[in-house]
This record gives sequence, structure tokens and C-alpha cells, in this order.
Amino acid sequence: MDDQRRIDTLAVHAGVLQTPANAPVSPPLYQAAAYVFEDLEDVEAIYGGDKPGKIYWRYGGPNGDAFARAVAELEGAADGVGAASGVAAICAAFFTNLKAGDHAVVTRDVYGGTYAIVTKDFPARGIASTFVDACDPQALRAAIEPGRTKVVYLEALTNPLMRIPALEQAVELAHAAGALVVIDATFASPALFHALDYGADIVVHSVTKYIGGHGDVGAGVLVGSHALIGAARSYLVRTGATIPHFEAWLAQRGLRTLGLRMERHSRNAEAAAAFLADAGAAVVSVHHPSLPSHPQHAAAARLFPLGCGGMLSFELAGGRAVVDAFIKGLRMIEVVHSLGEVATTVSYSVASSHRGIPAAERDALGVTESLLRLSCGIERGADIIDDLRRGLAAAGERG
Ligand code: PLP
Repeated sequence: MDDQRRIDTLAVHAGVLQTPANAPVSPPLYQAAAYVFEDLEDVEAIYGGDKPGKIYWRYGGPNGDAFARAVAELEGAADGVGAASGVAAICAAFFTNLKAGDHAVVTRDVYGGTYAIVTKDFPARGIASTFVDACDPQALRAAIEPGRTKVVYLEALTNPLMRIPALEQAVELAHAAGALVVIDATFASPALFHALDYGADIVVHSVTKYIGGHGDVGAGVLVGSHALIGAARSYLVRTGATIPHFEAWLAQRGLRTLGLRMERHSRNAEAAAAFLADAGAAVVSVHHPSLPSHPQHAAAARLFPLGCGGMLSFELAGGRAVVDAFIKGLRMIEVVHSLGEVATTVSYSVASSHRGIPAAERDALGVTESLLRLSCGIERGADIIDDLRRGLAAAGERG
């Protein structure tokens, strides 16, 4: 063997990783596409589940497992599984529990991506749906069809109006009718709210938001019973929507500071909401559960004792031009069509999350051309308020 060939082969096989005998202080990243088997007995033992080995990245890796176990523990769930995105987690929750002929009841002010799944993918699969005001128990009762409705889908805090569903009544009605309750708790995060405690069956999160927390992760997660999550896990493997290793690693790092961050996000949003509510005629309405004017103010105090997170929305006096002037007047807060990051950001729902929703439906939901959504970060609250003041001054000049 000539020297060059020897080096080529050596370069492929040299430097085998020695797993240390003692544990590292933080989880190592297992960035491997596939795993090695000792022999055919090993293959059978690992495939059969008799030996806790790994096979192939899409079937799940150690980082995805550890992250999902952590979220399940925080949520008080038996099981959890990571997903390639929040939307992948939502699809897993829907399509493992709904088949042709079934019916789902969906909160009407649902995230735009979920709205697209319900209005486009449900009909293609022969699944019927009814959008409902999930804050209204009578509307829920009227929409749920015993025996036919298989999923009632809610959001813990809705986007962008921060409304809180009648969760306990929804659970009671759904279970009596033979339906599961699936809840997207992205806006609350596992630090502030545990929907399983109220009888929900599956909780989904867009990890891209608070759990990741730093604007550098795209992932999702869902938690629930072994049976429900086992089905979701198989679906995610089949559809290639497994959480990638590095995303899981980043997400687990995010989880470590989630409680601290959510506390600061919540306090900042409460302060910003109070400031905007007191800002005079320039601000027509402010939507945050901490405000006595919010329709679920009392429910929020009971269900979210630690706070409601960093999201709020508000309507300016004037339309798109005034909104644009407000945005141009900001110096620190940037326009970002995501949320839940350490930095405060603002977004314009009619141009982002609700872009695909017909204008008449958007208006009926209260998502108007004058509405801005604020995602309060973890900066000093006074700095956020100073920047909002600058935005309002610029809007005032335009308005
Ligand atoms: N759920 C909510 C409430 C969201 O706001 C989003 C995204 O904005 C999603 C789910 C989808 O998450 P992802 O973008 O990670 O797929």
C-alpha cells in the first residue's frame, strides 16, 4: 500500500472518540447520521428494543430524546417527542388522531400556519372542521359533534389578541363526546402553563419561540401519553419530520434558562401593556391579560399565576401609514415576524401571521390594519418603554 492511500484510509478511520467514564456537565452533541452495530445479534437487539442503541438519525437521536424528555418532565407528561418545526408537531397531533370522515373543532383565532393546515390539508384528507370562539363554552358545545368530533384544538394564549380559551369546559365537552383536546401552548411555554393538569391530551409547542429563546432554533415538540406520543413519533419518522440533533441540543440549552426568561418576558409585557394602555388617544386598544380591560383578566390570574409571557398587541389610531411611522420611529425594537426571543420585536399581523386569512375574517377576529404585535424581550423594561414612546411620537407626527 503506497503512503498516500494509507493516509486516505487512516484519515477516514483514525481518532475514535473515547466516551469519558464520567459525565460531562452539559449534554454532548451527538451529530451522527447513523450508528454502528457490533454484529447481527446487535442489529436484532437494537431493532427489537432489547438494547438501548440508536439506528439512524430520523428514528431519533440522543439529543432529541433528552430534549423531549425534559419538556415532558416540565409539562408533567408521560412522554414527549421533538419535531422538525412547530408545524410538524401540529401535523403529527392532527394526522395521528384524525382520519377521513372525522371532524375537528378549532379555535377561530388560530395561528396562520395551523389555519392553512385546517383549510387546505383537512379537506384534501376528507376531514371536516369547524372554527369556533374557544372562549365561549356555548359555542364549543354547539360545535362539538359527539362521536364525529375527534379533536378539539385550542391555543393557550391566542395570537395576537392573547385570549384564553375556556379550557376546562372544552376538556369536559370534548371528552364526553369522545374527542381529544390538543393545545398549542407556544405563547405560554412550559414555564408558565401546564395544560395536561387541566385534562388536555396533547400539548404542542413551537420550540422556535420561547423554548429556543434566542432566535437561532427552528423546531417543535409535543407531549402527552405514551400511546398518543408513540403514534406521533412514528408519524414524524415516516414523514421525515424528526428534530435534528443540533436543534435539539440548542433547544435543551434554551430550556435551562426558560423559567428565568419567562419571568422577565412577563414583567416586561405587563409594564409595556400598562404604558400603552395609559398612552392616551394614540393607542386605541391594548390586548394583554394583565390589564383589567382584557376579557379573560380573571381567568389569567387563576390559570397563569406566574405571568402570561411577553406577547401583547395594540391598535394605533390610524391605519397602515401610522403603523409604518410608528415602526420607523423605533430605535431598538426591530420588525421580526417571529416571537419569543431575548430581544424585543414587533410584527404586523395582517402582513405576517394572518396574511393568508381573508380580510373580512381577519377583521372579524379583531386583527385589523391598525394592530401591532409586540414580543417583549428580556431587556430592561424601561428601555422597551422608551422605544415605544419614540414610536408613538413618530406615529403622532404622521397621524
Ligand atoms: N404555533 C404558534 C402559536 C406559532 O406562533 C407558530 C409560529 O409562528 C407555530 C405554532 C409554528 O411554529 P414553527 O414556525 O416552528 O413551525
